[in-house]
Amino acid sequence: ISNVSTPFSSCRPKVCIVGSGPAGFYTAQHLIKARPDVDVDIYERLPVPFGLVRFGVAPDHPEVKNVINTFTQTAKHTCCSFYGNVTVGKDVSVGELQQAYHAVVLSYGAEGNRSMGVPGEDLAGVYSAKDFVGWYNGLPSCQELSPDLSCETAVILGQGNVALDVARILLSPIDILKKTDITQPALEALAESHVRRVLIVGRRGPVQIACTIKELREMVNLPDTRPEMVAADFEGVKDAVKDLPRPRKRLTELMLKTAMEIPGEKEQERRNNASRVWSFRFFRSPIEIMADPDNKRTAGIRLAVNKLEGSGDGARAVLTGEVEDVSCGLVISSIGYKSLPIDPSVPFDSSKAIVPNSMGRVQQAAGLYCSGWLKTGPTGVIATTMNNSFDTARSLVEDMDSGTLDISAAKPGSQSISGLLEKRGVKPVIFSDWEKIDSVEMSRGEAAGKPREKLLTVEEMLGH
Ligand code: FAD
Repeated sequence: ISNVSTPFSSCRPKVCIVGSGPAGFYTAQHLIKARPDVDVDIYERLPVPFGLVRFGVAPDHPEVKNVINTFTQTAKHTCCSFYGNVTVGKDVSVGELQQAYHAVVLSYGAEGNRSMGVPGEDLAGVYSAKDFVGWYNGLPSCQELSPDLSCETAVILGQGNVALDVARILLSPIDILKKTDITQPALEALAESHVRRVLIVGRRGPVQIACTIKELREMVNLPDTRPEMVAADFEGVKDAVKDLPRPRKRLTELMLKTAMEIPGEKEQERRNNASRVWSFRFFRSPIEIMADPDNKRTAGIRLAVNKLEGSGDGARAVLTGEVEDVSCGLVISSIGYKSLPIDPSVPFDSSKAIVPNSMGRVQQAAGLYCSGWLKTGPTGVIATTMNNSFDTARSLVEDMDSGTLDISAAKPGSQSISGLLEKRGVKPVIFSDWEKIDSVEMSRGEAAGKPREKLLTVEEMLGH
């Protein structure tokens, strides 16, 4: 590792970043640009970089993954080093990183899962969207999931973009999926899938739906599927549209058009010929997932019927006392990701599930910063993450410039951490190792007519 001959080399400010998703890379990018004298080391739990860009973003959204090109430029910058296969909080503590670096930026995302808190959520046939997405995207820890897709109806709880990604993957014609970087086991399971109907359930109404127009449009246009909405859910929505703010207005208009308008001849024909159905079910919350008494697998879900109190974004769902049972063999809960604490020495707000911070400065912890989903909670797209990561980098640079962050004493940086890791039997994967994995995946993909065939286990990744 660099600078072996010059212990405690020079007085360059040394910063380390925990996590190599968009937050880690955008923080690094801004730091390197604003302070060309800085050394930035990125530590990542997995042997491969890019976080949810690799393991979250849907396989049929290749254009979203173009950010990887920018991240790669950052990783290859002379001031930047990548150390994969290092779990901070286990292989090395945050305190040890703080000893070795002038500043530590925590950008390890939101790897936990919000649970529904209803009876039956542990039944066979119930999955979190996080695990389901991880399964089709090749996240090593989710490869055992092998979801049972032998039922006809699937219920997805939640109506955000992740819910729509899952619905789209469940319903997409296999000819579309096989040209993406979806994993081979997922492709095979989906080719055999019996799922024909996907209900996407939300607590509130059409005006509160959490997806964006791009994802809705993709559902509307998904080949071989037709929408099936409940007209009564849209009562009053038409009148409310004109007062909605712009992005919400366009989204609602598209929903209204899909649900209420009589389609033209061509579209009608397309819908008539479709073999699969998707539908939004509004004003419903899960109460219980019900088991088949014979095999103890998911057989249905009991939903509470809600009504709204108030209007617009702030409207609250309140129970009416009515319930509705829906038969289904698959339930996927997509009600949000959640950050987890990784080290007891780091302040953590358990109720908000974030590291408490102001402008990315971790409260009451000098030299400690945070960015990305860990800083804001798990909302927003990559562009949102980019902006909040640039903000954190700005705070850090400001603190270096103003002297609030003491960078006068030399720090050992990766030199001392590498020593610790070696003692602990941890072998970091550097960026050129990842590039070897990358080229293996690309050539395997080429052979299969896909952009990439991902390696699915950590052992396999480390073997290249
Ligand atoms: P992450 O991307 O989660 O990165 C965190 C990194 O930290 C990971 O690499 C993780 O392995 C690593 N890590 C975790 N724990 C440790 C540890 N203890 N030590 C070291 N490293 C650790 N946005 C879009 O713009 N377009 C989309 O199409 C889109 N699709 C999405 C689909 C899904 C299913 C999800 C969940 C999100 C999607 N997003 C999309 C949002 C986007 O992925 C996020 O905005 C972004 O990834 C958040 O970045 P992050 O760096 O905070 O977290």
